[in-house]
Amino acid sequence: VSHLGTRDHGSQAAVVVATLRDIVGADAVFTELADVEPFVVDWRGRYRGEALCVVAPRSTEDVARVVRACAAVGTPVVPQGGNTGLCGGSVPLVRSDDPARVGAVRAPVVLNLRRMNRILEVDTVGNTLVAEAGCVLADVQRAADERDRLYPVSLGAEGSCQIGGTISTNAGGTGVLRYGGTRENVLGLEVVLADGSIWNGLRGLRKDNTGYDLRALFVGAEGTLGVVTAATLRLHPKPRAFATAWCGVLEVGDALRLLEAVQSRAGSRLSAFELMNSAQARIVEKELPGRSCPLPSATPYHVLVEFSDTDESSPVGAQLEDALSRALEAGWITDAAVAMGMGQRAAIWEFRHSVSEANRKYGMGVTLDTGVPIGRIADFVAAASEATRQAFPDVEIVIVAHMGDGNVHFIPMFPAAVWEPMPDKPAVARRARQLVHDIAAQMHGTFSAEHGIGQTLADELVRLRSAEEIRLMRLVKDALDPGGLMNPGKVLPT
Ligand SMILES: Cc1cc2nc3c(=O)[nH]c(=O)nc-3n(C[C@H](O)[C@H](O)[C@H](O)COP(=O)(O)OP(=O)(O)OC[C@H]3O[C@@H](n4cnc5c(N)ncnc54)[C@H](O)[C@@H]3O)c2cc1C
Repeated sequence: VSHLGTRDHGSQAAVVVATLRDIVGADAVFTELADVEPFVVDWRGRYRGEALCVVAPRSTEDVARVVRACAAVGTPVVPQGGNTGLCGGSVPLVRSDDPARVGAVRAPVVLNLRRMNRILEVDTVGNTLVAEAGCVLADVQRAADERDRLYPVSLGAEGSCQIGGTISTNAGGTGVLRYGGTRENVLGLEVVLADGSIWNGLRGLRKDNTGYDLRALFVGAEGTLGVVTAATLRLHPKPRAFATAWCGVLEVGDALRLLEAVQSRAGSRLSAFELMNSAQARIVEKELPGRSCPLPSATPYHVLVEFSDTDESSPVGAQLEDALSRALEAGWITDAAVAMGMGQRAAIWEFRHSVSEANRKYGMGVTLDTGVPIGRIADFVAAASEATRQAFPDVEIVIVAHMGDGNVHFIPMFPAAVWEPMPDKPAVARRARQLVHDIAAQMHGTFSAEHGIGQTLADELVRLRSAEEIRLMRLVKDALDPGGLMNPGKVLPT
């Protein structure tokens, strides 16, 4: 079948769709343009692909049958969660109006996991939660909370992104400093492999040295090695005492001094340390009226710092206020707004979690996901700002960072009036990316800390990782997906 010529693609497509309808039922396969549209365009509307159909199975067995049927006729599969990813990984690559690409990859089936949304088990002794891959992250957090536990992965898209998506992108977010990222919070996985077989590795063991770590391989694989259908997640005791503050800072170096001080003061009670610059704070206020910055947005930099503890009577509030008074005396911060109660804490976090939504509305931001050694963040911001301003004098520099884990979203933001007339937009975005990625690389950093590679950064992966690393990655890909049918063109270029 893989030798079918173009002439036969139409009839083959009809057979594939009919087979999938037989497997999952007609109501779980969409082919009409209007029904398919939301699944072939990414969240920011930057990538639009084309799909044979969208299929939404209800069980692991059905996912396996769908993948097997696609493999039998050489039809690619694009696994998809909430479609909130920021690298174009969750939408098909192929476009019929792009002749360079259409020959390379056949229109795929988008396999959306949203109907597989059951929480299967919560174990409060072993501190584990087993969930199907299509569970929305916020629903998992809620299920843990109802049993007095915490699932600590938290990010702005948590109301729509799915557990399978967070696992496949190894999502970071705002809880990494204290609890680690997704990889550290996944104990077991169930995966449908490229040939349609099922690997059940849902064991929730804390220690398991039985051979290669298969689980780690699928975390962050972005759907290129298989379809994650369920996961055993690690839960933590629920914090009950919080102290949250929003601080004004004149320069990034001062924020680093504050980080060092609060880290040694609070130890593991330091649960968040986030940074944004004034441009970012202004954009949120402008685009999302009603969400106001806790301090005047014109302050050059803003830091959100949070202490938390599982012990209700823990003096985290007094500890934070003491740390902030010292920081004020030392001149590291200019001002601080401390949350009085959970309502104000929620408002502070809402402002922080609003940045992606506000930036999407504001203009064309080349959102970079660099990571550098924490002590080099100030040098990195200075060097990247200078290089970017030199190359693009009209650009606005927007910075939002998970500073406590060295992850800086450095965003050259092109206002619409500047961006629209540009003749070769992809080349401009590429140049902006390369400039900043090279600076991160010189500082032994990374160009993808938490968003993944998708289609946006596949070229950069080949440019910036060593030939040996690329060779090893291709060996893994070829071994697990010899037909190249799982999410083609993502992570590794076709
Ligand atoms: C407002 C906003 C804020 C964000 N903040 C953060 C942040 O702070 N930190 C962060 O890390 N990310 C952030 N993101 C990015 C995004 O939310 C995460 O990458 C998220 O993990 C994607 O989950 P999803 O279910 O939407 O996956 P999708 O976007 O649907 O897919 C992402 C990738 O995973 C693959 N995939 C999805 N489900 C499966 C599955 N079941 N099996 C195999 N492969 C699968 C897809 O093929 C694709 O390659 C943000 C996005 C938005 C819109």
